[in-house]
Amino acid sequence: MNRTVLITGASRGIGAAAARLFGENGYRVAIGCYKGIDKAQQLAASLPDAEVFSADIADEAAVNQMIESVSSRFGAIDVLVNNAGIAMQKLFTDTTAEEWMRIFNVNVTGMFYASRAVLPGMIHRKTGRIINISSMWGQTGASCEVAYSASKAAVIGLTRALAKEVGPSGITVNCVAPGVIDTDMNQALNEQDRSVLCEETPLERLGTAEEVAQAILFLASDQAAFITGQVLGVNGGFVI
Ligand code: NAD
Repeated sequence: MNRTVLITGASRGIGAAAARLFGENGYRVAIGCYKGIDKAQQLAASLPDAEVFSADIADEAAVNQMIESVSSRFGAIDVLVNNAGIAMQKLFTDTTAEEWMRIFNVNVTGMFYASRAVLPGMIHRKTGRIINISSMWGQTGASCEVAYSASKAAVIGLTRALAKEVGPSGITVNCVAPGVIDTDMNQALNEQDRSVLCEETPLERLGTAEEVAQAILFLASDQAAFITGQVLGVNGGFVI
């Protein structure tokens, strides 16, 4: 029987690439979306069995409603990919409390809401996969991205602790930590920034959304059944 995946923030970038790849591999795909609904709907139309579900991931009631809608449409959610995220480049001392809270509410609390909503079903069925998207900056820290780095480090902590808690229920929880990936999130990088980042990467290039999607698909697969609580770097060797 085909499995169902819910991918948050799947209107573009890594989330959209993952939605495409899961769809091509026989999954029913719930495309989580906040902005960019037109692109999300085009993506859904291009896949065999996919539908768009809107929610601000930082809104508890909206996330619960989205999970209910996905379950009504597709039945059990077998795989949750917590991908929705926002970044901000700013000096720590210029960061407002509102900006700090928004980064954490989207990048961490949204992951808590979505995971908490899918887990009762997974625990009941004694199977499930949760894959959280962190960042190499959550492993090493980035200057002028303290809020983002701290939120992505929290994602790693959440992953490890939750893996221990739900492992006895047959559920794996893992993390993918991308390096610099060529998506809209990095639109602001100029040519010089890009070439410096390439030089710092042993594989001498930026990664693609499709390459991150392959790692996510692997962690959802039967081949990854004994892997839990891990952080899989997809970073061209930037962090070793
Ligand atoms: P992106 O900006 O193209 O995509 C982010 C997605 O999250 C979009 O679909 C957006 O609509 C969605 N989103 C944002 N706020 C949301 C909210 N409040 N509720 C629901 N959805 C929301 O960026 P991307 O590069 O595809 O990033 C995907 C994930 O990968 C993010 O968690 C990001 O932090 C992480 N990541 C990206 C890179 C990179 O270099 N691009 C590196 C490391 C980690």
